[in-house]
Amino acid sequence: MSEDLSRARRLVVKIGSSLLVDQGSGAVRRDWLNALADDIHHLRSAGTEILVVSSGAIAVGRRHLGLMQKSIRLEEKQAAAACGQIQLAHAYQEALARHGISVAQILLTLGDTEERRRHLNARSTIVQLLTMGAVPVVNENDTVATTEIRFGDNDRLAARVAAMISADTLVLLSDIDGLYESDPRENPEAVHVPWVGDISPAIEAMAGKAPAGYSSGGMETKIAAAKIATAAGCRMVISNGVDTHPLERLAAGARCTWFVPSASPLTARKRWIVGSLNPVGEVVVDAGAQSALKQGKSLLPPGVVCVRGSFARGDAVIIRSNDGQEIGRGLSAYSNVDAARIAGRKSGEIAEILGYRGRDELIHRDDLVLTG
Ligand code: GLU
Repeated sequence: MSEDLSRARRLVVKIGSSLLVDQGSGAVRRDWLNALADDIHHLRSAGTEILVVSSGAIAVGRRHLGLMQKSIRLEEKQAAAACGQIQLAHAYQEALARHGISVAQILLTLGDTEERRRHLNARSTIVQLLTMGAVPVVNENDTVATTEIRFGDNDRLAARVAAMISADTLVLLSDIDGLYESDPRENPEAVHVPWVGDISPAIEAMAGKAPAGYSSGGMETKIAAAKIATAAGCRMVISNGVDTHPLERLAAGARCTWFVPSASPLTARKRWIVGSLNPVGEVVVDAGAQSALKQGKSLLPPGVVCVRGSFARGDAVIIRSNDGQEIGRGLSAYSNVDAARIAGRKSGEIAEILGYRGRDELIHRDDLVLTG
């Protein structure tokens, strides 16, 4: 069974430090990065939206600050990240500017991906950037992330981001071409696994410990990432990115391991909305809005009759028809107070009523599932 990279419509590419940063000099490998930028340009020209999750801030910064001992403390890592991140951002900006592509830097913490409101905020900013044709370059905000609130590896961060933006494909570019039944560095006969449809205990057992060197994640964090991504309906591939043009190679069928989900991004996301959230409020809609929702449209303020309960932006609410039937559930883009103020009003009036310009939709169709 094989998967095709060109099928990706919204793609997250995770770049490991060992690919981007020269292990000897601690400098960004500019030629490699330029070649990656060429690959990104080609995929975008074919209609794929791309977001990059890049490691390397600590690897670049520690050399810059002279922190060359083998293990460094968390504060030193944080200092190194602050110093390295700015260089990393520059390098991406320069590499992609060669193709006239704008780069946007996004630094996230674990909380930004876990807490619903922050999650929604980050998501709308990222989606906005993609819509405007920019390439978001994401890293963990290492400078403020302490041990307890840290991903620590960008494999899982990339998977969370992929889930957050409903990406359909996640590529982890690594220094290995996928999963093996045993560690190929120890066993030259190790058997390569090209395709995983179910992350069984046997698959998990194949993941060894993180190798020494620059990268934080070994196969274990990659399997953890695969679980996060596939649960959100996003397929994931581990591919060797050491040589130049790694995405082109992958598209041409280079050896790799695909992890394939059983559900599409939308159904997985919607399952999450229905299943795992506790609705704290209700929005009653008129017959016009009800039929618009049935056609797969978003819920707009004019169709809202009234709002009940106390909820904040990003909370799950039940959508009811005028006769009290549950029609659906979704995440409200406004608090109950603001929702009540804009209920029945035109989208164009929202800014004037609330004093700020929010979303046109009270519940966007991506955040909504019909249950009735
Ligand atoms: N966020 C870290 C950095 O930029 C990298 C984490 C990882 O290697 O996965 O240096």
